[in-house]
Amino acid sequence: DAWIEVAGLQKLYRPRRSEPTHALSDIGFTVRRGEFISIVGPSGCGKTTLLKILAGLIPKSEGVVRVAGRDVAKPLPEVGMVFQAATLLPWRTILENVMVPVEVQKLDAAVYREQARNLLNMVGLDGFGDKYPHELSGGMQQRAGICRALVHDPSVLLMDEPFGALDAMTREYMNVELLRIWKESGKTVVLVTHSIPEAVFLSDRVIVLSSRPGRIAEIVPIELERPRD
Ligand code: ADP
Ligand code: ADP
Repeated sequence: DAWIEVAGLQKLYRPRRSEPTHALSDIGFTVRRGEFISIVGPSGCGKTTLLKILAGLIPKSEGVVRVAGRDVAKPLPEVGMVFQAATLLPWRTILENVMVPVEVQKLDAAVYREQARNLLNMVGLDGFGDKYPHELSGGMQQRAGICRALVHDPSVLLMDEPFGALDAMTREYMNVELLRIWKESGKTVVLVTHSIPEAVFLSDRVIVLSSRPGRIAEIVPIELERPRD
């Protein structure tokens, strides 16, 4: 019952004016539905590349990449993505920002506006829907970014260092929050992080990448007693 399936994945970047970079080599793993996995490894090992391929944002060079039973060639409606910085559109309100995937996927705005409001309430942003991004703190903006990733109810949530720009305490708070959202929603989560303690705290399994080219060094099951148990 693999919900995400990656096999024999290769990625070469071929810039026009310089040597190609072999970013990922022979990557293979599967993720069960509802599982929470983290991807860790040194800078440049291909974490962001792997996530972007899963999100359908950049093409692979070779191999199999399937999400929810479909080959990934473009962004799928089954997938939501949270970026490093919240990247909210400054000229739109928080609610309008959360609704962006609904527009992109051409879904019924009236139906999903209700869902957007529920999500904002869930992350403690009730009453902020009509505010603009600059009126919110960094942590609040990241929470709005999570709502944006979840608004079209994707079964898979991909996150690239979502809290990297936040101070340590807000970050810790956001991780606990994330764990609660994951527990309540039953979504399949793939998190890229620089922090091994964070990966161990949050995940069922940790995929460790090594660099040049990016390969899987090991996949570590986490058997510790965690708050969710
Ligand atoms: P990480 O997220 O682990 O830091 P990246 O996926 O960003 O790693 O990068 C992996 C490798 O691919 C690095 O050597 C990086 O310089 C290279 N790379 C990433 N994006 C591009 C790109 N658009 N063009 C060329 N090389 C790239
Ligand atoms: P991180 O390590 O946090 O993933 P990076 O600073 O490596 O982020 O990369 C930031 C952005 O720059 C990414 O979108 C990546 O694809 C792009 N990038 C990284 N390396 C290169 C490169 N050698 N050439 C072109 N773009 C790159």
